[in-house]
This record gives sequence, C-alpha cells and structure tokens, in this order.
Amino acid sequence: MFFVVTSTTKEKEIDFSQTTICSACGAYGRYELFMTYNQLSLFFIPVIKWGRKYYVKLRCCGSLYTIDSDLGRDIERGEKTTINESDLHPVRINHRREYFCANCGYKLSSEYEYCPKCGSKV
Ligand SMILES: [Zn+2]
Ligand SMILES: [Zn+2]
Repeated sequence: MFFVVTSTTKEKEIDFSQTTICSACGAYGRYELFMTYNQLSLFFIPVIKWGRKYYVKLRCCGSLYTIDSDLGRDIERGEKTTINESDLHPVRINHRREYFCANCGYKLSSEYEYCPKCGSKV
C-alpha cells in the first residue's frame, strides 16, 4: 500500500469583467480576474487547497496586478462586482506602447494620427 500525493499550482479564471480606462496605457480596457492556488491531491483527488492569490489582468497592454484575497473571494462569490483602482497592487505595468511610422520609422505616440515627420497616415 502506498499513497500517491501530488502538489500542483493551479490557475483558474474567474467569471468577472469590468470595463475601465487603463491607467497604464490609457486604452479603454477591461479588468479580467484569475486566481492561482496550490492543490494537494491524494490519488488525484484534490484534498487541500491553499495559498490563493488573485490577479487582475488588463487585456489592452497585459499589465498585471494582485488584489487582496478577501476582495478576490468576495468577487468570486459574487458579493462584490467592482474593483477600484486603489485595490490594485501592481505586479507588472506595461506602459503605453510605442509605435513607429511605417514610412520613415519615426517614433510615434499613440495619439498621433499622422506622422509628424513625414505626414503619412499612421
Ligand atoms: Zn492597458
Ligand atoms: Zn513618418
């Protein structure tokens, strides 16, 4: 008789979506929520879960934040439906992306519609 015990880190998407103006890249984006946790299985049956961490991801630029696990749990249960910017703890912030003019290679910021150097449409 022996036990098969496995410990794995799992990732789970949480059904949540909130539109927002992304503070990192300035795009009209969306908060997406997922969590990671450790799971101990005995004969491939999950017995213990621990170390839950909740993450908020922005699809526009891929910036990543964590939120407090209490808030994450409330959202997962549907008790809370909004995330405030003050709830977010930055993990990885991807700032406004840089663009380059296809015609002359001049570095552009995303507000430009026409290249300021050569005048071609971006
Ligand atoms: Zn963004
Ligand atoms: Zn140009």
